[in-house]
Amino acid sequence: MSIRVRVLVAGVSMVMLSMLIMAFYIADHEREVYTEEVENRARVLLAALSAPCVSALAQNRIEDLDRIVEEFRARMATTDGVRSVAVLDRQRRVMGHTEKNMYGRLLSDPFVIFASQEETPALQYHEEGNHRVLLVAYPLSTSVEGLPGIRWGTLTAELDLSGESAVLLRFIWRTMKVMLLFALLTALLLYFIAERFFLRPVLKLSSVAESVRGGNLAARADLAGASEVARLGQSFDKMTAELERHTHDLQALVSERTEDLGKANVELLATMEKLRTANTQLERLARTDALTGLPNRRHLMEALPFYFELARRGDRPLSFAMIDVDYFKHYNDTQGHPEGDKVLQELARIFLQRVRQTDIACRYGGEEFAVLFLDTGFREAALVCEALRQKVAYHDFPFGQEQPGGCLSISIGVARLTTDMLEPMDLVARADLALYGAKDKGRNRVVIDPAADIEQGGSKLDE
Ligand code: GH3
Ligand code: MG
Ligand code: MG
Repeated sequence: MSIRVRVLVAGVSMVMLSMLIMAFYIADHEREVYTEEVENRARVLLAALSAPCVSALAQNRIEDLDRIVEEFRARMATTDGVRSVAVLDRQRRVMGHTEKNMYGRLLSDPFVIFASQEETPALQYHEEGNHRVLLVAYPLSTSVEGLPGIRWGTLTAELDLSGESAVLLRFIWRTMKVMLLFALLTALLLYFIAERFFLRPVLKLSSVAESVRGGNLAARADLAGASEVARLGQSFDKMTAELERHTHDLQALVSERTEDLGKANVELLATMEKLRTANTQLERLARTDALTGLPNRRHLMEALPFYFELARRGDRPLSFAMIDVDYFKHYNDTQGHPEGDKVLQELARIFLQRVRQTDIACRYGGEEFAVLFLDTGFREAALVCEALRQKVAYHDFPFGQEQPGGCLSISIGVARLTTDMLEPMDLVARADLALYGAKDKGRNRVVIDPAADIEQGGSKLDE
């Protein structure tokens, strides 16, 4: 049920209820007024009839008494049902009655006994089913006010007040019609007031609140006035405006931060890329000899354990050669270090030309070089080393012929992986030992580690 219908029903019910209560009180009042009116009229009529009754009784004109009671009935009949009218003598015997067969009877009900002893009019009500019955009695006496006189009898009347209910019903029906009209008009007025000052603003506020909940922060109730509902609407509008402003600021802040973050990310990515490139270069440089461009000792020391293990496990040949420039100090001393550097660079170029791609030729340090021959037996390695030695010896180095041996030469010690070797450095040590052998034997030669090949050990391959 919508709020409008509820307000309408409540308004109509309220007005109807108050009208009913009012009707109840009015009806009660009307009933009293009616009763009082009937009593008065009965009293007045009885008083008016008492004089002719006394006269008729005194003169014993019984037929007049019948006429008088009929007259009473006729006068009262317009509004109220007169059940009976009786003229009683002093002994309460019926002298005149609206019912002819009552004549001469002695009445002895309590009201009649009571009324016959009273000097003033008596009234009594009693209920008979749905009816209210009024008993009225008037003393028939010739007394003058304030003085005792002769009591001739009593005039009684029994009035049925059922007419009272009919009158009341008519009244209530009339009132109801007016009330109904009034109730409708009042309810309409109430509804109009409620609609104008309460329902419409409340419903508008509710729909705006719903709109705000749906995300439309620009929605406003725009309620004018100073009523509680209008003030509520104005507070709601202020709150929504604040909310809108905050949300807007927040969105601006978020997009600004997102943009900053995006830029920072791009910069970070670029920096990371640079860093990665620099690291790669650094790594390469860290493993490269700056003068000759060959891999350096560090590179060899990192690679050697791997190939050493690989060859051992796979039972594959692995050879290593240590190369030293003969009388290089002499060359430096006579030609100067820059010239010596050029010799080292030229030697590196020669080595690179001669060894295979899979072999690792490096500068071991100073004027010493090394070659790791992968998958190569010592004979084959020794042949390559011999070729290198010859190539260097016959190469035309500047002032090479001024060296103690008549040319710029190299000495080479060759070793191979043997079963007794436990560590990679054992291979290097053996090659080194063979190199010392080569130096001892006069330089410019290749010497094979005796453990590798006892027969050829110490032989100068080329000579
Ligand atoms: P040996 O035949 O016994 O090897 O005699 P050597 O003179 O070659 O040996 P020694 O160990 O006495 O001298 C090595 C020299 O190599 C000393 C050093 O000045 C030189 N040397 C080492 N590294 C470099 C370098 O990078 N550039 C130059 N120009 N000379 C170097
Ligand atoms: Mg040396
Ligand atoms: Mg040397």
